[in-house]
Amino acid sequence: MTSFHPLPTTHWHTLQAEECLMQLQSDRSTGLSTEQVKERLQTCGANELQETPGRPRWQILLDQFTNIMLIMLIAVAVVSGFLDLKKGQFPKDAIAIFAIVILNGVLGYLQESRAEQALAALKRLTPLRVRALRNGKEIEVEAQDLVPGDVMVLEAGMQIAADGRLLQAANLQIRESALTGEAEAVTKDATALLHEEDALGDRTNLVFRGTEVVQGRGLVAVTNTGMQTELGKIATLLQAVEAEPTPLQTRMSQLGNVLVSGSLILVAIVVLGGLLRTGDLSLFEQLLEVSLSMAVAVVPEGLPAVITVTLALGTQRMVRRKALIRKLPAVETLGSVTTICSDKTGTLTQNKMVAQVLDTPYSTYRITGDGYEPKGSFYRGDETAQPLPPDAPEVSSLLLGSTLCNDASLVQDGEHWIILGDPTEGALVVLAAKAGLERSSLQKALPRRVELPFSAERKRMSVLVENLDSPSTQDLLPTQSPYVLFTKGSPELVFERCTALQTNDKGTEPLSAELRQQILGENDRLAKQGLRVLGLAYRPFETQPDALQDQDEQDLVWLGLVGILDAPRPEARKAVERCRQAGIRAVMITGDHPLTAQAIAQDLGISQPGDPFLQGVQLEKMSNLDLDEQVEKVPVYARVTPEHKLRIVQALQRRHHIVAMTGDGVNDAPALKQADIGVAMGITGTDVSKEASDMVLLDDNFATIVAAVEEGRVVYDNIRRFVKYILGSNIGEVLTIAAAPLMGLDVPLTPLQILWMNLVTDGLPALALAMEPPEPDVMKRSPYNPQESIFARGLGWYMVRTGLIFAILTIALMHWANSNDPVHWKTMVFTTLCLAQMGHALAVRSDSQLTIQLNPLSNPYLLGAVLLTTSLQIGLLYVPALQTFFGVTPLNGLELLICFGFSALMFVWIEMEKWVIPLFRKDKSE
Ligand code: ATP
Repeated sequence: MTSFHPLPTTHWHTLQAEECLMQLQSDRSTGLSTEQVKERLQTCGANELQETPGRPRWQILLDQFTNIMLIMLIAVAVVSGFLDLKKGQFPKDAIAIFAIVILNGVLGYLQESRAEQALAALKRLTPLRVRALRNGKEIEVEAQDLVPGDVMVLEAGMQIAADGRLLQAANLQIRESALTGEAEAVTKDATALLHEEDALGDRTNLVFRGTEVVQGRGLVAVTNTGMQTELGKIATLLQAVEAEPTPLQTRMSQLGNVLVSGSLILVAIVVLGGLLRTGDLSLFEQLLEVSLSMAVAVVPEGLPAVITVTLALGTQRMVRRKALIRKLPAVETLGSVTTICSDKTGTLTQNKMVAQVLDTPYSTYRITGDGYEPKGSFYRGDETAQPLPPDAPEVSSLLLGSTLCNDASLVQDGEHWIILGDPTEGALVVLAAKAGLERSSLQKALPRRVELPFSAERKRMSVLVENLDSPSTQDLLPTQSPYVLFTKGSPELVFERCTALQTNDKGTEPLSAELRQQILGENDRLAKQGLRVLGLAYRPFETQPDALQDQDEQDLVWLGLVGILDAPRPEARKAVERCRQAGIRAVMITGDHPLTAQAIAQDLGISQPGDPFLQGVQLEKMSNLDLDEQVEKVPVYARVTPEHKLRIVQALQRRHHIVAMTGDGVNDAPALKQADIGVAMGITGTDVSKEASDMVLLDDNFATIVAAVEEGRVVYDNIRRFVKYILGSNIGEVLTIAAAPLMGLDVPLTPLQILWMNLVTDGLPALALAMEPPEPDVMKRSPYNPQESIFARGLGWYMVRTGLIFAILTIALMHWANSNDPVHWKTMVFTTLCLAQMGHALAVRSDSQLTIQLNPLSNPYLLGAVLLTTSLQIGLLYVPALQTFFGVTPLNGLELLICFGFSALMFVWIEMEKWVIPLFRKDKSE
């Protein structure tokens, strides 16, 4: 075979499928060989798009300095530098402030680029996988390993990973909005032959990278990969995961604005008030200095950085627990979730489907076996029925239909048997194999000609096979007509299209009312056991229609039922209980039968016997008003379609619930987008649903949502903890500075010292507080209202209170030290303010528990931060270079001890509060 070179891209739509395959040196039934793939990967490169460069680096750096707080600091530096120069002094403060502004900017820059890298890494965690034919076998490959010539299988929900020429298309509809901007899905046709000049949107025999399969199935020969694809040519359209500011970040930057305006007003009051009061213009400079210090003190310079780091750490912890956050705001919102609406199959259940019951109007069989291994026995009553008894030809036909009306394949992977495709269908392939019916050989004798694929709306699928009169299949077929349509799906829906049933002597019998009742009763009996039940039917055809329509699924002949076990996940039961304790409602929304849904929901504790349930058809007839009332009570929704999910979310939201909603199909995307937290499935979810989600479950497990909620709550608790910690100290600083001139004293703190406190001695312990482990009751209390202000539940009042205590302590010290120790008093005030924050950091860990009741090692970072910061502060007093830089004087042992003593009072106060406040509360409640 000649070596392969990438081909020109313009003419694929003008060629027949076979011609394309020839040019691509590929084969529709075997695909490429491993060697061919290897060679083509080398010549054509990996199937990757070069990411569009985002903002240039200088722009990211410059953007850091548009922060209003930094702008104010720059202004302070300019004024302070000007004052120093005027006095003939070296403008030390100004230079230091500039240095810190630059450092802050650079840190912000590094953080932002790290965040971008982290998001890129998160994207890599969910590589796109596609099904392709290689060496004659259908296997799963990573999308980046696709090469021209690969034969790729398309199914509903996929995001297409390369450009290609269709070889086959069954009801294939593709949304090409990423490429053409057209929201309406396009119907594709493998047989179409087009003209060179037909526009991209009209090339119905081609598929393009980045577009989405909305419906149907298809087989494609890959023609172009990577940057050679149409999407690659317009790479700017690439949708990257964006780092949006979270509501909290937004609120914090609003707080920044308030603080900056507040401090400007303070400056004006101090300067104008001072001048008006004394009428002495020579005081102007001194008052200006006081104001500058106040302006620097009021701004929590370290806060934005700590918040960003906390959110980032939160996402990391969530990934470790298998929840991948796609949009940063989700981290916060998760903590406030009040209702989790979950699919049943795969999320609450294991999605390891095993067919256990086969039921025809004449007999019922029990089938044994584990997992997907095609080994197991058939029992009729207590007797084995293997091989299948000759008096039951309708059972063979039922098995034949279930394996032909099916897209899954069973493959052996070493010791294990795995399913490629839908596990429900997999269970049927295994069931047939247990009876000796081999799907691949049956398909040769009864090739599929046309089909009507499964969708969550239709809840059924049909295929039309041609009877090639092979002797091997004549005994299995229910009819000898040249074509047979097999339909499988939700039993009620298949059954209502039946007019007759298959008898056990290869004949048919009209369906009497009595028989109908009997069959539906049987369906209910199986569903009540929690089994997922499918119904099967057939219809003979004399000729082959061009395509199948809904109307073709009429006048069917009923074959029977298959009951499939999909056991609940044991961990889901515990997770539902945790939800209950945490004041969160777990709701099941499923396409399955109401009795199956109820059986599983009761087993998991989602509903109790006697609880109401709603079916899709009932929901459809309901007004929004009625639905709003129902959603408060109903724990189980059955036989719903994805459109109903959207209505359920909206109704819950109208009732002010914060909703997390799971989804896996293409049509779940609107509900996922609407939900406060859209949750997609990492393993079974379609690419489209992942794209629409805020969070992806890497293990498809309900328990993971609950774990993520817990992490969300921890993040929010920690943010409140350090906001409390940082802002309390800011208020203390401002009050201390403002008090000094009133007491006839100099400005006690220079802007440089204040920056040091706000960024370093407050910043490090604040970061450590972000690592605080969950409080024991984190999942034992109701969710907080996400609309609540960050200062709610006493936090604002706490900050004012601690700010006052800070100020009282330092003012007392200032008063005492100034009269006893005029040389060192300023250094003592500075040191006391810093050290008091260390005690505050230790005490703020818990609202209710005394610090001695907490395990000091449960947050070793905090201990480390406190020790490090204390050493830095003391080091600063005794290292000569730092002394001059920060304008401090070395303290003697006694002075240092006094500072420690005053600082310790802060800790004692907060501990006392924890002890006293509950006593008052008790008094009140008595
Ligand atoms: P959930 O929404 O909890 O994941 P589900 O998986 O049961 O529930 P769907 O996949 O929408 O929901 O299936 C709905 C119904 O359609 C099933 O109860 C079954 O009767 C039928 N069904 C499911 N898969 C197939 C299939 N591959 N072929 C035909 N019918 C199917």
